[in-house]
Amino acid sequence: MLAHVFLFAFFCSSWMASALPDVVQIAGIFGEGDEQIEMAFRYAVRYINEEVKIKPRTRLRAITINLPAEDSFMASRLVCGTLNASVAGIFGPQSANVANHVQSICDAYEIPHIEARWDYKRTRDAYSINLYPHPKSLGEAYYDVLRYLEWEKFVILYENNESLVRLQQLLQGKHWEVHVRHLEGQDYRPLLKQIKKAQFNRIVLDVPEDRIYSVLEQAAQIGLMREYYSYFITSLDLHRVKLDEFRYVGPNITSLRLLDPKDTKVRMRVEKWQFGERLRGKMVDFDNFKIKTEAALMFDAVHFFAAALGDLDRSHDIRMNPLSCDTEYSWPHGNSLINYMKYYGVDPKVESYVLGLTGKIKFDREGFRTDFMLDILELTREVGLKKVGVWTKAGGANYTRSNVEVTQQVIESLKNRTLRVTTAISAPYTMLKDSSESLRGNDKYEGFCVDLIDAIAKSRGFNYTFYLVPDKAYGSKDKVTGQWDGMVRELLEHRADLGIVDFTITYEREEAIDFSMPFMNLGISIIYKKPQKKDPNLFSFMSPFSIDVWIYMATAYLGVSVLLFILARMAPSEWDSPYPCIQDPDELENCFTVVNSLWFMIATFLCQGADIAPRAVSTRIVAGIWWFFTLIMISSYTANLAAFLTVERMDSPIESAEDLAKQTKIKYGCKLDGSTYGFFRGSNIPTYQRMWAAMSNARPPVFTNTNDEGVDRVSKSGGMYAFLMESSSIEYVIERRCDLMQVGGLLDSKSYGIALPPDSPYTGAISSAILQLKENGTLHDLKKKWWERRKGGGHCTQEQSAKQSSAAAELGLANVGGVFVVLIGGMGLATIVAICEFIWNARELATDENASFCEELGTEVSFILKCSGNTKPVRKKYPSTPEEQLFTYGSYGASYGYSNKK
Ligand code: GLU
Repeated sequence: MLAHVFLFAFFCSSWMASALPDVVQIAGIFGEGDEQIEMAFRYAVRYINEEVKIKPRTRLRAITINLPAEDSFMASRLVCGTLNASVAGIFGPQSANVANHVQSICDAYEIPHIEARWDYKRTRDAYSINLYPHPKSLGEAYYDVLRYLEWEKFVILYENNESLVRLQQLLQGKHWEVHVRHLEGQDYRPLLKQIKKAQFNRIVLDVPEDRIYSVLEQAAQIGLMREYYSYFITSLDLHRVKLDEFRYVGPNITSLRLLDPKDTKVRMRVEKWQFGERLRGKMVDFDNFKIKTEAALMFDAVHFFAAALGDLDRSHDIRMNPLSCDTEYSWPHGNSLINYMKYYGVDPKVESYVLGLTGKIKFDREGFRTDFMLDILELTREVGLKKVGVWTKAGGANYTRSNVEVTQQVIESLKNRTLRVTTAISAPYTMLKDSSESLRGNDKYEGFCVDLIDAIAKSRGFNYTFYLVPDKAYGSKDKVTGQWDGMVRELLEHRADLGIVDFTITYEREEAIDFSMPFMNLGISIIYKKPQKKDPNLFSFMSPFSIDVWIYMATAYLGVSVLLFILARMAPSEWDSPYPCIQDPDELENCFTVVNSLWFMIATFLCQGADIAPRAVSTRIVAGIWWFFTLIMISSYTANLAAFLTVERMDSPIESAEDLAKQTKIKYGCKLDGSTYGFFRGSNIPTYQRMWAAMSNARPPVFTNTNDEGVDRVSKSGGMYAFLMESSSIEYVIERRCDLMQVGGLLDSKSYGIALPPDSPYTGAISSAILQLKENGTLHDLKKKWWERRKGGGHCTQEQSAKQSSAAAELGLANVGGVFVVLIGGMGLATIVAICEFIWNARELATDENASFCEELGTEVSFILKCSGNTKPVRKKYPSTPEEQLFTYGSYGASYGYSNKK
C-alpha cells in the first residue's frame, strides 16, 4: 500500500515540474536465447508508457541491441553507439563477460547500468544496479531450507564452476556431509549410476534451467527418480521445467522461486503481455505462465528505473545529451539517477519500495537486493509444483503445511501403488503354502507376516507383491567391506519397498535402513530337549524321600532304640518278675534288651505289633512319640510314592543361560549372522562373553543357517545341544514339538518391525497402520491364529498342562523336618521323666535300706552303665521294727531282695 502511495506521489509531482524531454531513450542489450527477456524489456516500456506514464508527455523509447554470444568487442562498439543516441540507462546483457565491458563504459560515462542476472560481486560498481537476488542471500535460503528438511548427507551435482560460489554456504555447512560431483557432457548416466551405487539419496542439483529436465530424465532411467530420492533444485525457474512425468513416480523435489506465475497480479500482467504480443502478430513462448525469472526481473528493472527517473525529475532539471566514446564527457544526471535507484528503502523509518512482479524491490545499504521473499515449492502428485512455505531473510524457511497434511499426502500417494515386499522363509512368519497346484505370486506364501502385510495394505490402499530374498539372509553387515547382505541390501538398493519376516530391530540395521513401529516384542531364550522318561529303577521305591531323609530316618531309628534301651534300664517299672506266677521273685528282669528295643522300634515303625510293651512313663513317652513319627512318615511316604509311580520325573541339566555358560559338555549355538548372533558377539556381560567365546571356538561349528536347522539339531542331539533362539519362535516350536522346551527366561528384550529403505516416505503411514492393527486386536488375533490354531499348534500345550497338574517331587528334609523335631523333643521329654523316676527310686531305696542317697544312686547308675544282663536280684526291704521282722522272717520265709513296688 505504502508503495503505491509512494509511487503515486512521485508520479504526480513529476507531472508538475516538467524538465524531462518528451522521449527518454533506454537501451537493452540481449544475447542469444534472451528473446523472452528482450520481450519483457519491450513490454515493460509499453507498460510504462501506456499504463504508468512517467509524465503525460514523456515516453520511454526502447533501443534493443542483439549481440552474438560473448562478443565483447562488438558490445563495446554498439554501446558507444547508444551513448550517441542519448540513452538514460542501459539494461542487460545477461552474459557476464559482455556485461563487464558494458559496465566499464557505463562507469566511464556515468550512465546507469541496470542488470537482472546472477552475479556474485562483493562490491558493487558505481553505476550498476542488479535486481537479481544477491547470491549470498540465495545461499542463505538454500541453507535454511536444507536445515529445515534435516538433510544430513547429500551430493551436489553441478555443471558450471560458478555453482561452487553459489553453493558456498552449503559447502561450508557444519550440519551435514557434502559430496560434490561434476556433471560433464550430455550423458550423465555413468555419474548418476555411481551416485546410486554410493547410496546417496539426497541430491542438490545446480544446473541451468534448460539442463534440469535432461538430468532428471537420465536419473529416472537409472532408477534415481523414485520415492526414496530427494532433490533440491537451486534454479529459480523450476516452474518452466516439464515435471509431469516425475509427479507419479514419487521423488521428493524441492525448489525455490522468486516469482509466482499463478499470483493474480503476475498472471494479469502476463495475460496482458501475451495479448499485446498476439495483437502484434507474435506468439509468446511462455504458455502456461512459464515466464522466466530473469524476464520478470527485466520487466521490474524498467519499471523501477522509470519510478526513479520520475522521482529524480521532481528535483532535477534532467537533460539528455548525446555522448561519445571518443570524448571524456559524461552524463551529468547519471550519478543522481543511480543514487535514487539504489537508496530506495534505505531510510529505515520509511519502508519505501516498488512492488514488481518479483515482489518488493528494495536494496540494502550495500545496494544489493538481499531482502526478498521466496516461495518454497514441492512437487506433488495432485497439482505438480505446489507452494508449501516461504523463505524470508528475517524468518528463514517456514513451511505452511501441517504434519497432518504431510501424512495425509503420503497416505494418498500410497493409494494404488504396488509395493515390492521382500521376505524369507521362517515359520510361522512367512511359509510356502502346501498345495498340489502350482501357485504363483502372492498365493505361494502364507503366514503371520503375509497376513500382516495384507491387513496394512487394505488399510492404506496399496497393492503388494512378495518375493523371497535371493540370498536367504535377513541382513548383516560385513565387518571388512561394510556391505550389507540379505533383505537390508534389497532395501538399500531399492529393489524392495518393504521387508518383513522375524526381522529384529537392531541399532546397526536402524543406522542403515528405516523401521516401522514394532509389531511383536520378544527376547532371546534357550530351546532344549525335554528330559526323557527314565528307565524303571529297581530302587524307585526310595524316590518319595530324598537320600538325606532316609539317612535321618535310619539314624532316628537307631537313636530312639538305644534311648529306649537306656531309659528302660533306668525305669524301675520296667524291671519285673520273669515269672508272673511267682509273687516274690528273687530276680527282676527287664525285657527291653538292646535287641528287643531294636525289634520293638522296627515293628512299630512298620506298623506291626511287638510282643513287648513299655510300662514306665518315660518309655511309653518314647514309644508314643515314635509311633507319631512313624504315622507321619509312613503316610507321607505312601502318598508321595503314589505320585512317583504315576508321574514321569523331569530333571533338566540346564535351567538358565548361566548353567550353559558354566559347563562345556552340552554345546549351544544360534542362527549365524542373526540378531542373536550379534547380541552375543557384542555383549559386555561376562556370562554372555563366555558363551560367545564357547560358541565361536566350538568345533564342529555350533551356528546354523536357519532357526529350523538349530531346532532339528536340538531334537537329534539327545540333550547334548541347546539352541539360543527368539522367544516368539520358541513358543511356536514348543507348541508343535513336544520333545522340546524353553529353558530359563529372556536374556534381552527387543522387537520385530517392518523394514523400509532409508528415508522412505512410507515409514509413518506403515507405522500408524501397525498401531491401528495393534489397538483393534488384529495383531493379537493373527498371533493366536498362527501360533495356536494353524499348522498343528496347541497340542503340546494341552499335554504339558495335563502333566503339570500331576507333577511330583521327592520329599526333602524341608518337608518332613518337623516330624524329626517332634521326635527329638519327645525323646528329650522321655529322658527327663526317666531321670526323675530313676532318682525317685534311688531315694526310696536309700530310705528303705537306711543307706545314703548318693551311695544308692551310685550303685544303681553303675548297674545301668554296665549295660549287661537284663536281670537283677530283688533287694528285700530291711525290717525296721520287731513286728516287721517277725512278719517278714516268720510268716513268709526268708527273702534277700526287696519286693518290687509296682
Ligand atoms: N530375528 C533374527 C534377525 O532378525 C533372526 C533370528 C535370530 O537371530 O535368533 O536377525
